Amino acid sequence: MQIKTVQLLNELRILFFKYMKNVERDQEFLEGFLVETKKQLYMEEVIFFKFDEWKQHFYKEASTGSLKNYIMKSSDQEYIERLLKEMKNDEESPVFMPPETLDFHIIIPFWDNGNVTGLIALKEQEGSSFSCLTPEEGAAFTKELATILKAALSISKMSVEEKRNRQLFKVTEKFHSSMNMDAVLGEIISTLHTMYPSFDYFLLLSHDNDSHENLPIKDLEYDSENVAALQAYVTGTIQFDDHPSESHSILYAPLKGKQGVYGVLQVIAPNTLMFPESEIEFISLLANTAGSALENAKLYQQSKRLVSDLQLINETSHHLNSNLRLSETMEYMKKQIMKSFGADQTGFILLLPGENVNLLTGSSDFFDSEESGVYVSFLKEKINKDKESLFIGDLSVKCPNVDVKYHSLMAVPMMESNDVKGFALVLHKEPYFFSFEMFKLLQSLIHHSSLAMANSMLREELEKMVITDHLTRLYSRSYLDDKMSESMEVDEEGTFILIDIDNFKRVNDTYGHQVGDEILIQVANLIQHNIRDTDIGARWGGEEMAIYLPSIPLETGIMIAERLKDKVGEESNPKVTISCGVTYWAQEQFDNVKEVFKRADEALYMAKNSGKNRVNVKELRL
Ligand code: GH3
Ligand code: MG
Ligand code: MG
Repeated sequence: MQIKTVQLLNELRILFFKYMKNVERDQEFLEGFLVETKKQLYMEEVIFFKFDEWKQHFYKEASTGSLKNYIMKSSDQEYIERLLKEMKNDEESPVFMPPETLDFHIIIPFWDNGNVTGLIALKEQEGSSFSCLTPEEGAAFTKELATILKAALSISKMSVEEKRNRQLFKVTEKFHSSMNMDAVLGEIISTLHTMYPSFDYFLLLSHDNDSHENLPIKDLEYDSENVAALQAYVTGTIQFDDHPSESHSILYAPLKGKQGVYGVLQVIAPNTLMFPESEIEFISLLANTAGSALENAKLYQQSKRLVSDLQLINETSHHLNSNLRLSETMEYMKKQIMKSFGADQTGFILLLPGENVNLLTGSSDFFDSEESGVYVSFLKEKINKDKESLFIGDLSVKCPNVDVKYHSLMAVPMMESNDVKGFALVLHKEPYFFSFEMFKLLQSLIHHSSLAMANSMLREELEKMVITDHLTRLYSRSYLDDKMSESMEVDEEGTFILIDIDNFKRVNDTYGHQVGDEILIQVANLIQHNIRDTDIGARWGGEEMAIYLPSIPLETGIMIAERLKDKVGEESNPKVTISCGVTYWAQEQFDNVKEVFKRADEALYMAKNSGKNRVNVKELRL
């Protein structure tokens, strides 16, 4: 080998060792490398072209200076590419170019695993020593040259990779240290910005309902025309959408977790023909981290929701088992449902024999209105027939002829030993407002509380039975006793009327017991219609009835008794009359229930003895 070339190689080795000490300064090293080559080989210009994997062409990485803004002529590009294709891989020998057409006379390609990664182009000046080398010498020289340059390039590549790994580390660190999905996604986007500042990025997420601040998130639409994005989502593999004509390339990396794919990362690279392998690997690592973050967030939400669902059911069951009255039970249920599901209306409808329904207390006021009839009759039919829950996203689709105000509907039957007793109905104005999870939760809530509701209903039924007289539906004697004792403790005064049907034995004898019963019912109804809800009409026993009027003075009591006596005389059929004994108590007198009853009885006795069909009064004599 010529002394000149040996000397050049030595100079370059020295440069390389200097560079090793400070790998950040790769540009300085490259330029020194080229300047030294130019000097030692008497060249006019030496340029190092690097092959751009993104754009698939050679670009000037460094030069000796005189051709500073040099862009390789496309004819040169094409010529070189053709030549390189013909060359055997890894053949590191100089190529001598036909001088008439091209800017350069000699090029030295560098190979890596069968691909050209760069080349040195030399422009000779007169008397250059390089062309004087024998082919063997040329090959040996370029081999040495290539070894040095390749070592330098691989060091610089390692430093790029190190930077990248640092970024990846930062992202995974964030991922492991935070349950905050937005923070992880944000870190991923900012990493991409650092690594590829000129690119655009979007996270295409499937069913994402959360709002994310400042994150480039788009919905992944299933009917989208973006085939590549959908392909990536469905197959879970990286897809490309290259647009050579528009000179940009798009990469779609699936956001993959362990259990599924949660979306797609879209990377738009302008002025690019293709994504290099190493970059694809890096991007897909980032995308997988995003996938895991999304998965974690989702699982976390899911477990949080499960916990709160269980809490709700537990709390409700507990509450319902604490022997509440039906009205309180239903009121509580409504409150829980409104709160948990964000419902607009909640109703509990009891199905009665025949076509009738009964609205349970606790239902929203809406169900008292006629407007609610559409929903109730629609569901009554469905639930009676199928005995199944209903989950309707948009009722207007099911009932196109009806003008529906509430589009979202959930209905769950209330069952008791395999019989549908009624149903709970939950409504919201917006269509598709309730999620399927909510529906499932409502089902288990109703399922868990049906028994408690049935119990409350049974108990109330039983209580009513105890406090009302079966035939007349008036209160029972014992209920009247209790209420009167209570009243005499808390109220200022009260009036008591004892009523006995005159000559009732004769009614029975004339018309039979059945008609006698009818008369009892007629009189009871007249009593009910002549008193207020706070008054107590009771069956005293046999054909005797009583009215207790809490907080009512004697005069009013007498008036009520007279009015009732007249009404019975006029309206009963067959015609009967009644006699009434009236008495009164006031707080300042020392009195008690027993005494009041006794006085009323005496008054009644006097009424009977003085001709019946009359009202007689007996006051407490002080
Ligand atoms: P007076 O005007 O003195 O009250 O005459 P009365 O016939 O009404 O009096 P009495 O107490 O002798 O008779 C009451 C009758 O009422 C006796 C009984 O057969 C009848 N009676 C009591 N309970 C019922 C009932 O539940 N249904 C029917 N049909 N009759 C009853
Ligand atoms: Mg009697
Ligand atoms: Mg009688």
